[in-house]
Amino acid sequence: MRKVLLVRYGEVFLKGANRPHFLKLLTDNVKRAVKPIGGRVWLSDSRIYVSDVEDMDECVRRVCKVFGLYSVSPAIECEKDLDVIAEQCIEMMKGKRGSFKVYGKRSDKKFPMNSLEFAAELGGRILESNPHLTVDIHNPQHKLRVEIRDNCYICCEEIMAVGGLPMGSSGRAALLLSGGIDSPVAGYCMMKRGVRCCAIHFQSPPYTGELARDKVMQLAKEMAEYSGGMRVYLVPFTKCQLEIHEKCPEGLGTLITRRFMMRIAQEIARQNECNALITGESLGQVASQTMESIVCTDAVCEMPVFRPLIGMDKTEIMDIAKRIGTYETSILPYEDCCTVFTPRHPVTKPKLDTMPKAESKLDIEALVREAVEGTELVIVS
Ligand code: ATP
Ligand code: MG
Repeated sequence: MRKVLLVRYGEVFLKGANRPHFLKLLTDNVKRAVKPIGGRVWLSDSRIYVSDVEDMDECVRRVCKVFGLYSVSPAIECEKDLDVIAEQCIEMMKGKRGSFKVYGKRSDKKFPMNSLEFAAELGGRILESNPHLTVDIHNPQHKLRVEIRDNCYICCEEIMAVGGLPMGSSGRAALLLSGGIDSPVAGYCMMKRGVRCCAIHFQSPPYTGELARDKVMQLAKEMAEYSGGMRVYLVPFTKCQLEIHEKCPEGLGTLITRRFMMRIAQEIARQNECNALITGESLGQVASQTMESIVCTDAVCEMPVFRPLIGMDKTEIMDIAKRIGTYETSILPYEDCCTVFTPRHPVTKPKLDTMPKAESKLDIEALVREAVEGTELVIVS
C-alpha cells in the first residue's frame, strides 16, 4: 500500500497523430514540476501517476500548475484483493458524515467481480463500519472512486488543474515583460495555450533601479512555476530612451519608445527561434494602446504580435493576476522605463504616415543593434 497522485489529462487535444508527442510533453512537464520534491512519474493506461513524494499537498500544488492537465486525485494504491480494498475504503471514510457513493471501475477484466458488484459490496461494508453515513447514488456528498487497473487505486477527492494545452505544443514566443499587472497575465494566457515563452525586459539605468529588475525577476520566477523555468533577456534601453526624448516630438515619445521595444524584441525573438511576440496591451487602457497607436506599433513588426488581454477590462486582468499568483508582486512600487520619460500630453490618435518623419533624426538600425548586443540573459528556474 502506498500514496500516489492520479493525474488526469483532457482528451480534446490528444486526437490524431500528435497524441504520442503531446503525451510525452505532458509527462515530461509533470516530471519537471515534481523534480524539486523528488517524485517518480510514469504514464500508464491513460493516466499519469506520481509516487514517492513526502509532501502530497505540495505535490498537488505543483502538478495542478502543469498546463494540459484536467484534474488530480491523491489516492491509495493497494493490491487487488477485496478485503484489502475494503479496509482502505473504510479507513478513508472514517470520521466522515453525510451521503456517499462508491464508483467502481474495472479495467482489469480478470478481477472476479464486475464494477457494479464490487462497488455495492464495498458500499455495504463502509455503511456497516460508519453509522454516520448514508448512501445517495444520485447526488452524494462524498464520491469514493475505486479503480481496478494494474493495481487498485482508491480516491475520494478530485482537484481541478489549470487546463489548457501542454507547454511546448504550440511553439515559442517572446513575452515583453514589464513590472506591471498586465504582461505576466498575458504570458500566462499564451502559456496556457501551449506556447513556451521567454521574457524580454527593458531597463533604463540609472532611471530604473535594482528594485525594478528584482521585481521583474520575481515575476518571471512566479511564471516559471507554470512553465518549469524561463529565460529572461534584460535589454539596456537607456540610450534609446534618451535619444527619443531629445530628438523626437514629445507627444509621440511613448509611442516611438514602444516601436523601439518591438523592433528590439523582434530581433531577440528571431535569434531565439521564437515565432511571435506577446504584450499585455488592452485596447484603450492608455494613450499607447488606442487602435491608432497599435496600428503604428504593429507597423514595425514582421512577426505576429499576440495581445491576449486586448478585450479585457483591468478588473478582469487583476482577477486573473490574483488567481495565478503574480498580483502581489506586480503592485509593489517601482519605476518602469516607460514612466520615466512619459510625455505630458501623449498623442492618442497618431497617424502612421507621420512616424518616419518623427523618427528621422534617429539612427534606428544602430540603436537596435546596440541594445540587442548589450542584452543580458538570466535563466530563472
Ligand atoms: P503592464 O501592466 O504589463 O506594465 P501597462 O498597462 O503598464 O502594462 P504599458 O506600459 O503601455 O502598459 O505597456 C504595454 C505593454 O508593453 C506591457 O504589457 C508589456 O508587454 C510591454 N512593456 C511595457 N514596458 C516594458 C518593459 N519595461 N519591458 C518589457 N516590456 C514592456
Ligand atoms: Mg507597464
